[in-house]
Amino acid sequence: MSEDPVGSTLRTGPVLGIYAHPDDAEISAGGTMAKWVAAGREVHLLVLTNGDRGSSDPSQDRAELAATRLTETEAAAAFLGLASARSLGIADGELANTHDVREAVIRRIREVRAETVISVDPTAWFFENRYYNHSDHRMAGWVALDSVFPGSGNPHFFSEHLGEGLGVQEVADVWLGWSNEPNRTIDISGHMQTKIDALAAHASQLAEGIRFFEEFLTKDAAEAGAKIGVEHAEEFRVLDLS
Ligand SMILES: [Zn+2]
Repeated sequence: MSEDPVGSTLRTGPVLGIYAHPDDAEISAGGTMAKWVAAGREVHLLVLTNGDRGSSDPSQDRAELAATRLTETEAAAAFLGLASARSLGIADGELANTHDVREAVIRRIREVRAETVISVDPTAWFFENRYYNHSDHRMAGWVALDSVFPGSGNPHFFSEHLGEGLGVQEVADVWLGWSNEPNRTIDISGHMQTKIDALAAHASQLAEGIRFFEEFLTKDAAEAGAKIGVEHAEEFRVLDLS
């Protein structure tokens, strides 16, 4: 299966992933991104922070970790077959939904002419009374939504972009992972190994190896898959804005 229509429309245009941390896209949507790439869609990634607090070692140099995580992001993007992977380099844990951050995100939406934006659900604060969502994840979701509307499609937001030759860009649909209110289950059977391989590229985050993630992500994907009778799946809250 190579198509995931939204409503009655089959989307084939460019995709921009907007995530807080270097490994969020793979964990949340790596299978779906790999599937879209395999179907011929151009998929880009914009990571908002540099992940420089992703260590429990007090002697870890943060600038060094940020550099390592950028290299890992690029390696992971190669596994997924992404058209580009960039980082805004904001300090980990300090992401805010500001005018400047939205300017950078809207610029990227316009540059890649994103038809689809994929990110995370900012309204998911608590998960089953077991843990709650990282502030950067929630912020990334709001930044993504607020950059799509009202933003990238409106010429009065960052009109200087238009002077640089960029056009306004209407985003047709937004896909939000890590949601408590998913409305779409996407078959990623055949792309699970790509998701795991891409995640494994984030070696700095895998002190105990990829096994833990492989087991829990595969179990998660199998549970989602069982809902629609397939081997593996990922779930999203999909907003059709077209
Ligand atoms: Zn994260």
